[in-house]
Amino acid sequence: METRIIDGNALGKRLRQAMAQRVAKLAAAGTPPGLAVVIVGDDPASKIYVRNKVRACAEIGMHSEHIEMPDTASQVEVLDCIARLNADPRIHGILVQLPLPKQISSEAVLNAIAPEKDADGFHPVNVGLLATGHPRFVPCTPAGVMAMLEDEGINPWGQTAVIVGASNIVGKPAALLLLQKGATVTICNSKTRDLASHTRAADILVVATGRANLVRADMVKPGAVVIDVGMNRIAEGPNAGKLCGDVDFQGMLGKVSHITPVPGGVGPMTITMLLANTVQSAEAAAAAATSH
Ligand code: NAP
Repeated sequence: METRIIDGNALGKRLRQAMAQRVAKLAAAGTPPGLAVVIVGDDPASKIYVRNKVRACAEIGMHSEHIEMPDTASQVEVLDCIARLNADPRIHGILVQLPLPKQISSEAVLNAIAPEKDADGFHPVNVGLLATGHPRFVPCTPAGVMAMLEDEGINPWGQTAVIVGASNIVGKPAALLLLQKGATVTICNSKTRDLASHTRAADILVVATGRANLVRADMVKPGAVVIDVGMNRIAEGPNAGKLCGDVDFQGMLGKVSHITPVPGGVGPMTITMLLANTVQSAEAAAAAATSH
C-alpha cells in the first residue's frame, strides 16, 4: 500500500493564506484581530514557540502583543496582566505560554482569561462547551488534527478511533472532536493494559504521549490513518538533537494509508489553529459591536 504523508506545512500555509483575507476584511472595518502572547520566565523552548507564534501573526497581517515577564513574577502580577488584556479591545486572543514558574498556578492563570478571548481553548467554559457538543474555541492541536483529516477527505463517521494519550490539551479534546464526528472512540493512557490490542483496532490512530517510538508498525492495522502528535528531541546517535514523534514513522510506510511526519505534520497546524481561533474571536467581537 502506498502511504500518503500528510503535509502539515502545506495545509497550514494554505489555511493561513485564506485567513489573511479575513484579517484584511476585519482591519478594513477598523477591528484588526489581535493576539497577546504572555511568557513568564526564560525557558528556551517556550521562547522559540512564542517567537514562531508572533511571526505567524505578522505573516497574515494580524496584530500581536508579546509580553515577557521575569521568572520571579508573582501570580498577582500575571493575573493583573491578564486582567489588562481581558479589558483591551485591540486584543481578541490571549495565550499564556506553559509551563509557568512554580510559584504560579497555571489553573488560576488559565481560568482568569476571559472565555471569549481564550484562543487556546483551555478555559473550563470552553472545555465544557466542547464536551457538550457546542464547541467555541477548540484547543489548537486537536483542532489541527481534525483539519488535517477533513482536508484529506477522511470522514470519522462510524470509524474506530483510538487516542493514545489523555491530556487536557491534546488527547481528551481530540477524543471529543472525533466522537462528535461520529467515530467510536477509545482513549488509552499509561495505565492501559496491552496497548497494542487497542491500537490494532484503530481505523484512525492519534498518538500524543511524548514517548518516542512508542507505537511500532506491528501495533497498527494495515490501511489505518496515523496522526503523530508527539514531539521528542532525540538524545543520542546520528540524529541527536533532531525531532521525532511517538510513532515509528519509517516502519509505518507501506503499511498505513496516511501518516503525519514529525516535524512538518501536526506542529504547523497547531499555530494555524491558534490564529484561526483569534480571527474567529475578532469576527465575533465585530459582529457583537455592529448588533448593538
Ligand atoms: P502529557 O500531558 O504529558 O500527556 C501524555 C499522555 O500520554 C498522558 O495521558 C499519559 O498517560 C500518556 N502516556 C504516557 N506514556 C504512555 C504509554 N506508555 N502508553 C500509553 N499512554 C501513555 O503530554 P501532552 O501535552 O498531551 O503532549 C504529548 C506529546 O505531544 C508531547 O510529545 C508533546 O510535545 C506533543 N505535543 C505536540 C504539539 C504539536 O503542536 N505538535 C502540541 C502539544 C503537544 P497518563 O494520563 O496515564 O499519565
